[in-house]
Amino acid sequence: MSNDNKEPNNNNSPSKDEEKEVSFASLGVIEPLCKACEQVKYVKPTDIQVEAIPWALQGRDIIGLAQTGSGKTAAFALPILQALWEAPQGLFACVLAPTRELAYQITETFNALGSTIGVRCVVIVGGMDMMAQSIALSKKPHIIIATPGRLQDHLENTKGFGLRTLKYLVMDEADKLLDMDFGPMIDKILKIIPKERHTFLFSATMTTKVAKLQRASLNNPVKVEVSSKYSTVSTLLQYYLFFPFKHKDCYLIYLCNELAGNSTIIFTRTCNDAQRLALMLRNLGFTAIPLHGQLAQSKRLGSLNKFKAGSRNILVATDVASRGLDIPLVDVVINFDIPANSKDYIHRVGRTARAGRAGKSITLVTQYDVELFQRIEHVIGKQMEAFPIESNDDVLLLQERVSEAQQVVAAAKHLKKGVKPKNKKLKR
Ligand code: AMP
Repeated sequence: MSNDNKEPNNNNSPSKDEEKEVSFASLGVIEPLCKACEQVKYVKPTDIQVEAIPWALQGRDIIGLAQTGSGKTAAFALPILQALWEAPQGLFACVLAPTRELAYQITETFNALGSTIGVRCVVIVGGMDMMAQSIALSKKPHIIIATPGRLQDHLENTKGFGLRTLKYLVMDEADKLLDMDFGPMIDKILKIIPKERHTFLFSATMTTKVAKLQRASLNNPVKVEVSSKYSTVSTLLQYYLFFPFKHKDCYLIYLCNELAGNSTIIFTRTCNDAQRLALMLRNLGFTAIPLHGQLAQSKRLGSLNKFKAGSRNILVATDVASRGLDIPLVDVVINFDIPANSKDYIHRVGRTARAGRAGKSITLVTQYDVELFQRIEHVIGKQMEAFPIESNDDVLLLQERVSEAQQVVAAAKHLKKGVKPKNKKLKR
């Protein structure tokens, strides 16, 4: 693999002094696509775009290590759209993404940036009607954005569908793709698509598995990297809040009160907690909505859309939502449960402070979480500050209201299961 990508043989790659002047046009992007960038208010390219686009336009395979929120989607979408414009054909490119939500989001970017050249995209993910997808595929869209399982399913079972004409393959969030055991499916897909193709592999982190996949699927790639291995962006203010475990819900509600009006994502470890907290918050008058893997796909998209549209301003999510999702204008990320994995912390807090904006993250820490918390501080190379609160007594004043809401939620759960609630005095 060629890591020597800083060599000067790339006329389009700017030197540091020129960086201020860089525009999409100066990277070699054609006029209709520059216009589309303008329409979506991309004033100037982000670092990963500056690094990757000129190489991609020269036809090189790319391995891109970029933190979430860096603008990596456009970094691969623009070169693909440009190549498509130069030689239009159906089934031109395929993008593999680890989650359904990310697949939809990538499609939005392709549609937005490709609007000026009439791009046709299709999303192929699980949980949606297979027949409708087969019909969409038979119309030979330019770009397929897929999760590997469903794509594999169509490759095996949809008559007349194949990827023999494919010119570009993208594997986005490759570390997550491999963590989710999509490896064998990706191997199968790689076997049946043309060897003569361009391949872009993007990953937040370079794991051993990613390195292996890269060796198997990329041809003399250029490595582009825009951040140190594990880091969070400088516009992100990272806080922690330490308190006894038994008051966890109470402290969360206190924070939600303090941060009222901000668009907030609360991350939980379990689907159950995501659901429970969303209900509890609603009971307390917050416009909260859950997003987790136990919801039907249509509900997941519905939640996300309501949150994006601003009709709900608190999203309570499991890690299914922590990667790759682009939810603009998230002001605050709250880690209700501390992530067991430091990398997940970085992905979670990467939901805020995107593309140069400011943002805040607050990690709830109890007596059981200290070790994990210290590990995260070590990995990000920063000591977090305590989130400023006036007094713990203020927080505990909320306990009664919170207990009431907890009971209502528990009762609602029992009712759903057909069990009579014990506490009959509850108000609904
Ligand atoms: P991504 O890392 O691809 O998920 O992109 C993160 C966010 O940055 C998305 O909201 C993009 O629309 C936005 N974005 C991407 N490129 C640019 C750019 N050049 N200027 C401003 N915003 C951008």
